[in-house]
Amino acid sequence: MEDWYTRGENAFLKAYGRYDVVLEKGEGVYLYDTNGRRYLDFYAGIGVNSLGYHYPAYVEAMQKQMATLTHVSNYFYTPIAVEAAEAVKKATQLEAVFFCNSGTEATEGALKLARKYYYLKHGKADSEIISFHHSFHGRSTGSVKLTGNPAYQKAFGPLIDGVCYATLNDIESVKSLINERTAAIIVEPVQGEGGVYPCDKAFMQDLRALCNEHDICLILDEVQCGMGRTGTIMTYFQYDILPDIVCLAKGIGCGIPVGAFVANKKWAQAMEPGDHGSTYGGNPFACMAVKTVFDILEKDQILPHVQKVSQYLIQRLDEVVEQFDCVIERRGLGLMQGLVLNQEAKSVVKALLNDGVIVVTAGSNVIRMLPPLIITPQHVDEFIEKLKKILKK
Ligand SMILES: *Cc1c(COP(=O)(O)O)cnc(C)c1O
Repeated sequence: MEDWYTRGENAFLKAYGRYDVVLEKGEGVYLYDTNGRRYLDFYAGIGVNSLGYHYPAYVEAMQKQMATLTHVSNYFYTPIAVEAAEAVKKATQLEAVFFCNSGTEATEGALKLARKYYYLKHGKADSEIISFHHSFHGRSTGSVKLTGNPAYQKAFGPLIDGVCYATLNDIESVKSLINERTAAIIVEPVQGEGGVYPCDKAFMQDLRALCNEHDICLILDEVQCGMGRTGTIMTYFQYDILPDIVCLAKGIGCGIPVGAFVANKKWAQAMEPGDHGSTYGGNPFACMAVKTVFDILEKDQILPHVQKVSQYLIQRLDEVVEQFDCVIERRGLGLMQGLVLNQEAKSVVKALLNDGVIVVTAGSNVIRMLPPLIITPQHVDEFIEKLKKILKK
């Protein structure tokens, strides 16, 4: 049998600690390794594969676009890119879209737009950004600075200047950082990577009010929690607010690399030709993915499904919290859930993998579940049964 793992170790930069499982294909909500073993996918490529694998309408649309037009650069509009941007506008209820290729690029773009607005207003490029501890916004030298996790930053300085960190759900910690140079506040409605911490509704509304009061740009990073994962197309609709800019990626392409940042009118008008760009960003192939994903979410009633099936997942997870002393609590919204353990989560995640279930960690002691949005109660049962078996040990 081919030793793909060893060949991989010999070919790749060791930026990741990879599992010793080599995946070959996917079908529905299952993945298969090179030995033909089946895995129930409760992580969806870190929240990307919302429609699972081989969703027929998606595959058909992508195959057709591949044979029509894949790339022309952003000096031309294409019908599919216009349709994708209109779909994003409708879903976000914001004004103007910039397509890029990843979550990192989305947060970088949002940061640049917020800084540009500040620059036009103050005539100086000396703005500050408030981010949060435990946050995650990407790995480039700007977005990793926005990421409130010193371990990801320390070897890579000097990073960008002017970023400070507040405490989630503590509005006083935000107020104490605001000054006349504050250009933006960036926050994930549900922190993913950092440990699955949702923002309280009152906190989010207070952030909105603070930003209005001080003319600060409220940037919501919905790269992980957006696109229907929490039960509404954007999580912020559950907070009854609109951001000034939203960052999207992961589930917006369901496997094709694409991201976006979307601004309301006030901030959008700060951007002028020449300010920002991306060669690939929003090419016709990526935009077909975006448009098709929005079409499917609507036509196939995926959001009502998420609302229902997530209730069942939550109920079964709460049962696990009740039953096992090693599980401290459940946190999350919709199909973005975390189980907090009284120990490192890694060994449980590994045991689940050996038993044919894929999940990820968040922080050090949280099991994070980001299943495809199309899972059924039967898949939830299969997952809970295996989880309980492992927790018993
Ligand atoms: C994954 C993630 C990013 C970075 O996205 P990439 O596509 O990996 O660059 C940014 N913000 C959040 C909230 C994420 O979960």
